[in-house]
Amino acid sequence: MTPSDTVARDDDASTQEAVINAMTNPAIAHSFADARRLIHAVAFAAHKHRDQRRKDKDASPYINHPIALAHILISEGGVSDPVVLCAAILHDTIEDTKTTPEELRAAFGAEIAGVVQEVTDNKELEKAVRKQLQIEHARHASPRAKLVKLADKIANLRDLASTPPEDWSAERKRAYFDWARKVVDGVRGVSPQLEAAFDHAYAARG
Ligand code: NDP
Ligand code: ZN
Repeated sequence: MTPSDTVARDDDASTQEAVINAMTNPAIAHSFADARRLIHAVAFAAHKHRDQRRKDKDASPYINHPIALAHILISEGGVSDPVVLCAAILHDTIEDTKTTPEELRAAFGAEIAGVVQEVTDNKELEKAVRKQLQIEHARHASPRAKLVKLADKIANLRDLASTPPEDWSAERKRAYFDWARKVVDGVRGVSPQLEAAFDHAYAARG
């Protein structure tokens, strides 16, 4: 046996010990459960939105949008609450697919399902009424729902600036920017970083 063999075996032993510690460490087990739930939400939303596309010229896969929200929340908002991140991933499932609130409750629990419901428009109402209600409801939403709303509006303004629907006039885009701003003005106070990101995105209104 050479001295280097001894070192290698010691390294193996300490690596194995670290792995075993990690498997039994409650904090790590907890974060793994959160990661598992987040990936479950991504898989669930990807399946539900599988036949849908965004409105940009290249018809991007729909799932890019919910993933963009979670990315904005994590990397620009510093949000680590797994309920907010899962709700962001699932935020358009009730509104834009056949997913029911009961289905979300059964799969992800009442907290996540509740946030998704808070950010879901009632599609039975006329569009103008729905848009007005978003402005009115936003200020009364829970802090978690407000974070999802903010990320949704940031993502949509960025999409409108970089990859807009082809058939939208400049006037229609500006109307959307202004409406989004009215919604966001009602949720201010939950995240200075995300509000600054929204204001920066709004500056592309033109
Ligand atoms: P829509 O609700 O029809 O479309 C915007 C929504 O589409 C977004 O909120 C987003 O929703 C989704 N979306 C999908 N792809 C994209 C993309 N590439 N970029 C941005 N959003 C995307 O729009 P509005 O009815 O709100 O129209 C905007 C404004 O224009 C309104 O204020 C309205 O008054 C006016 N209008 C004008 C018309 C015209 O022809 N001049 C006709 C209709 C409205 P999500 O995040 O949920 O996916
Ligand atoms: Zn959305």
